[in-house]
Amino acid sequence: MYIGRFAPSPTGELHFGSLLAALASYLDAKSNNGLWLLRIDDLDPPRETIGASQKILESLNNYGLNWDREVIYQSQRYTLYQQALEKLLSTQLTYACNCSRKSILERSGKPSYDSYCLSNPPSNTDISHPICWRFNTGQETVQWLDGIQGPQIYKESQLSDFIIKRSNNLWAYQLAVSVDDQQMGVTHIVRGQDLLRESANQLLLIKSLKLNSIQFSHIPTLTNLKGQKLSKQNLAPPLSANNISRDLFKALILLGQNPQKSLLNASKADILHSAIINWNINAIPLDYSSIQTGV
Ligand code: GLU
Repeated sequence: MYIGRFAPSPTGELHFGSLLAALASYLDAKSNNGLWLLRIDDLDPPRETIGASQKILESLNNYGLNWDREVIYQSQRYTLYQQALEKLLSTQLTYACNCSRKSILERSGKPSYDSYCLSNPPSNTDISHPICWRFNTGQETVQWLDGIQGPQIYKESQLSDFIIKRSNNLWAYQLAVSVDDQQMGVTHIVRGQDLLRESANQLLLIKSLKLNSIQFSHIPTLTNLKGQKLSKQNLAPPLSANNISRDLFKALILLGQNPQKSLLNASKADILHSAIINWNINAIPLDYSSIQTGV
């Protein structure tokens, strides 16, 4: 059974880059007779925008991207994350750390973490720098065959002990997604290439928590004219409800699917139906720069 998912963070409304990720994961799931689930990654209240979750659901509905089952909200699942943290604690795969960003930079000259607290555990009395919990990546090398980007390898020197629970008590992305994807029964993840590195960390957690493995595929990231990733943070324009068919058509061109011209004026249901039948993940390009959408 194929189970895919789309997991936006409600930091703003969906933009065209999000549509590409949503559409690619939807089409891959549906063309494999799978389920496509929706999870709202609302783990970080300070970064969230009021009403964004609702707008995201409306936007997906507008495009006809109907999800299966109930929407899942990460904010309601802290107990599961706590259980995972305890499991990692019991196998010594996590450790407390109270290093500030400044102290890490001063020690090693770079922001990536140098595992200092693994051999110098903080004393609990130091409240000036509250502790976070880090995953001990040890001497691991992570390898996988990405469904779009091909063979991936992250060696020990490229991995650093990432945070799984932050010093402000918020759960970090990697732990939460690993636990949730497992609990939701996700078998395939199709998402943006900006998360490629996170997949290495997610695979480490999958192995350590003895979770089921997942097939990862990363679509290229869409950039704006300045070459920055299209994102809510750099104010990518939200999707509008007025150009549904045109947006879907354009997204299919970017994803290398070569939709028939006549679909440009077809209904969203017809466009999606045809896209599911003709979906070819191998046709997705490694970047979009040479693609002219013509619309
Ligand atoms: N919530 C993450 C984001 O919006 C994506 C999570 C995922 O696809 O794993 O960047």
